[in-house]
Amino acid sequence: MYDLSIIGGGPVGMFAAFYAGLRNADALLLESLPRLGGQVSALYPEKDVYDVAGFPHIKAKQLVSELTTQLHEFAPAVSLETTVETITKEDDGTFTLTTNQGAFHAKGVIIAIGNGSFAPRKLAFDYDHALDDRRVHYFINDLEDFRDSDVAVAGGGDSAIDWALALEPVAKSVTIIHRRDQFRGLESSVEKMKASSVNIMTPYLLTGLTEEASRLTIGLKKARTKEESSLTADHLIVNYGFTADARILRDWPIEIKGATIPVNTNMLTSTDRIYAIGDVVDYPGKMQLIASGFGEAPVAVTQALQEIYPERKQPLHSTSLIH
Ligand SMILES: Cc1cc2nc3c(=O)[nH]c(=O)nc-3n(C[C@H](O)[C@H](O)[C@H](O)COP(=O)(O)OP(=O)(O)OC[C@H]3O[C@@H](n4cnc5c(N)ncnc54)[C@H](O)[C@@H]3O)c2cc1C
Repeated sequence: MYDLSIIGGGPVGMFAAFYAGLRNADALLLESLPRLGGQVSALYPEKDVYDVAGFPHIKAKQLVSELTTQLHEFAPAVSLETTVETITKEDDGTFTLTTNQGAFHAKGVIIAIGNGSFAPRKLAFDYDHALDDRRVHYFINDLEDFRDSDVAVAGGGDSAIDWALALEPVAKSVTIIHRRDQFRGLESSVEKMKASSVNIMTPYLLTGLTEEASRLTIGLKKARTKEESSLTADHLIVNYGFTADARILRDWPIEIKGATIPVNTNMLTSTDRIYAIGDVVDYPGKMQLIASGFGEAPVAVTQALQEIYPERKQPLHSTSLIH
């Protein structure tokens, strides 16, 4: 039985799990994706973030790396690829969380699911999924993985253009493939890309993928024509965006407002011992920022622990703790 189960391993859930450790709580962090960091890792790891206190600017993936180091200071239990499906309040006031990896039990719950469990939009055709993460990428961890490679980027939005531009100085060649002639990205980024060495293939649709002699062959069809061709590359990065699904909230024993959870100033939901923090919450003046979530996490953890262990008194300042 854990003291606190924290649902969602985005930046806010990560900080909450660390803070629970700082407060001597036995915490469990549950994350549906194969890696921590939430939107920061999945959507913009290479971007600079300018509004996290103490860092004039920090690359998003570096922020996740620092949060990971901080998280492991108190070694909380972390379960990745674990999606919480139901939350049941038991007669003794504790909670059972059912997930795709079995059930977990906790005395209190902190929900930090952001916009809901999100997943990359996949290629629309069938292909050998053994290529995923090896040659076909929906997530990028490190630009260095693509050094001196021929890289194809599929997509026409800001993210696809940003990746194409970020890869250009690292990769041997970068080709962006988009089904329309017009890109949906910022005009200045589109101009920058046009002036760069990125090869632009529009309007093309991807039709198939095969691996031959350690290279990918990407089947292409020119939009609105019967013209078919192919391109070979070492890697394909697919940037069709993400879908976020917060419908699961409807089955949880708390009041919701659309895809958000109303909370009071203690970050408490409508149910005792279930707290919520980060992008998923709603209160007057809420801002969906990392900094706001970092402020909400200590409130939720402290309030939850006061509720579970009213006899425990702890110093407010981390500088008073002996670690
Ligand atoms: C392009 C872009 C740029 C941004 N730039 C900035 C910026 O410069 N500064 C700033 O402050 N903010 C920025 N943000 C917003 C910032 O990323 C969010 O405010 C922040 O990520 C919220 O953190 P979170 O932990 O609440 O949620 P998330 O980051 O969304 O993490 C939630 C996690 O919960 C997991 N999850 C969901 N459902 C379940 C479930 N049922 N079971 C288990 N796990 C689940 C998800 O997989 C996800 O990993 C930006 C956002 C985007 C998209």
